[in-house]
Amino acid sequence: MKIKVLGAAKEVGGSCIALETEQSKIALDYGIKLDGVTDEYPKNFDAVIVTHAHLDHSGSLLRLTKVRKKQAIVGSRITRDITVDLLKDMIKIQNEKANTFNINNQTADQVRDSWLPGENLQLPGMNVTLYNAGHVAGAKMVGVHSEGKTILYTGDFCIHDTEILEGCNLNVLPNEPDVLVSESTYGGKVRPPRDELTQQFLWKVSGTMKRWGNILIPTFAFHRSQEMAKRIDQAMEDGVLPHYNAYVITTLGRKITAHFNSNKQLFTKQIQQQEQPFTYKHVKSVERTSEIEEPAIVVCTSGFGHAGASLALLELWAEGEENTIILTSGFLPVDSPLKSAKEKRWFRAAQGDKIPVMARIEQIELSGHADQLELVQLVTKLKPKKTLLVHGDLPQAEALSEKIFDLTEVCIPEKGESISI
Ligand SMILES: [Zn+2]
Repeated sequence: MKIKVLGAAKEVGGSCIALETEQSKIALDYGIKLDGVTDEYPKNFDAVIVTHAHLDHSGSLLRLTKVRKKQAIVGSRITRDITVDLLKDMIKIQNEKANTFNINNQTADQVRDSWLPGENLQLPGMNVTLYNAGHVAGAKMVGVHSEGKTILYTGDFCIHDTEILEGCNLNVLPNEPDVLVSESTYGGKVRPPRDELTQQFLWKVSGTMKRWGNILIPTFAFHRSQEMAKRIDQAMEDGVLPHYNAYVITTLGRKITAHFNSNKQLFTKQIQQQEQPFTYKHVKSVERTSEIEEPAIVVCTSGFGHAGASLALLELWAEGEENTIILTSGFLPVDSPLKSAKEKRWFRAAQGDKIPVMARIEQIELSGHADQLELVQLVTKLKPKKTLLVHGDLPQAEALSEKIFDLTEVCIPEKGESISI
């Protein structure tokens, strides 16, 4: 069997791994790069397995359907539904930017039509099994058994439980795989425990509430906005946070929230017991920033502040020193207004004006990725013969490699590199 790393080598973004035997050829993920410039992957796969709906794992599926009408795409049902929503949103944004983007919603619908939702797939000489990965709703790891060998591909994963989602269960994963292909996003980073981070978050929020400030929480439409709105809603319900005007603004997020409500079996037991867990009591879902009554706490998109309500509110609230902007992602792209606001204490408004930042900016990494301790825990438990580290910048992958080199043979592959086993 041959494993070829087609993307996410020594970087985050553009995940795609090809597995090939004499009889079958599959791709694990088919993503786009975060900067939008993505290489073309081969298209002659018998099946493409999609670990989860994030576009850096699924965004190139539109190219696949342009060539072949029927292509088997495999992944969980909610991953299918959310991927199609995210692809349609990407098509809309691309078409607004340039009329030359020759893809319409029909192509996204073809992705849906080609999708076989399920946890198992049998191909000639190859068995594929999906395992819960934590990370986001519907996320899976992929186990492949072929020619007497076992390969486990983690996709993005998280071992610890979050408020709404259980982490992945290491006990059900295949032991001693011949090859483990693991993400390494936070390979060099150890984070404080989740409880400590949520506590910190609630302190920052309540501190701002005491001075009647506004709280802006830019986030992503898929999973993070639902998780954040639920966190705030629950804290207000439990009396941990006082009642305050609270809103969530994201048109795309609303569609995704509907999938969350109709798939509550995927979430924690506590969530499953609630009738409509993602229909909030204290957090109002609105469409426009004009509907906000200040002072307020607002969860909105876009996650990096490039556009939408998060940019509009950043422009409105940055100069007020009573206000707080809470960043929950560890990563901010270089051109992100939020990165500039945090590091330079000014940013460019949509109209080009330079706006100074007087508001407090806090970064609390409520991430859905395994940190270094969890990555080492995975390798220690599974005892893979060989481990390929992907989906991590080189310093992160190298830091992890140093921690696990005595447990497994480690390789940080180049893009395009093939490994025969
Ligand atoms: Zn992801």
